[in-house]
Amino acid sequence: MLAVSKRHSVEKIAKLHDLGQHCFGENYVQEAVAKMKQLDGVPIEWHFIGPLQSNKTREVATHFRWAQSVDREKIARRLSSQRPKDLPPLNVCLQVNIDREPQKAGVLPSGVRHLVELCAGLPGLRLRGLMCIPQPGSADHDPANSYRRMLELFDSLCEEGFEMDTLSMGMSADLEAAIMHGSTMVRIGTDLLGPRPPLETDSC
Ligand SMILES: *Cc1c(COP(=O)(O)O)cnc(C)c1O
Repeated sequence: MLAVSKRHSVEKIAKLHDLGQHCFGENYVQEAVAKMKQLDGVPIEWHFIGPLQSNKTREVATHFRWAQSVDREKIARRLSSQRPKDLPPLNVCLQVNIDREPQKAGVLPSGVRHLVELCAGLPGLRLRGLMCIPQPGSADHDPANSYRRMLELFDSLCEEGFEMDTLSMGMSADLEAAIMHGSTMVRIGTDLLGPRPPLETDSC
């Protein structure tokens, strides 16, 4: 289980870590790096799960153990070359736009294989698997179908010989369906830490 701590305080993170939670996910680089400094000495495994722009790759490569939102070649190459040489390779999941939503981040299912092959060969990265954020459940869409397609994609790549062990899917609202369809890592914010405080800019 990855605890998603975006917008939650360092006090809450430290308390959850004391209870035995080791892995935390953050979406915003600046916020995450500030928290890491405040939590210096607490042995947390940090995962970056937010939107990844080129101008943020150096900080992600420097400060995180995992990046789960890699979705294009340029980002993958930059993370690999910017990973400090004294650190082990950055663990990477490719974010898949499994429901082909026009506005959403992630590589389209048809482009996954190419990106998997590229990442598997980059020295600064260790490809661990796939991640997705499916279209929210509604009368027209059952996220279980998205999870099933993710598992098929994952299995077919593993059968081809790519060594991956992580299928990161499932959030507070639908973790059961994700687990039923092969998730190995659920990313839980609200159900663990409560509702997220509003963005600071909202209160102006
Ligand atoms: C915020 C977030 C989560 C956690 O969402 P909850 O519904 O609060 O559990 C998981 N994954 C990603 C990528 C997120 O941005």
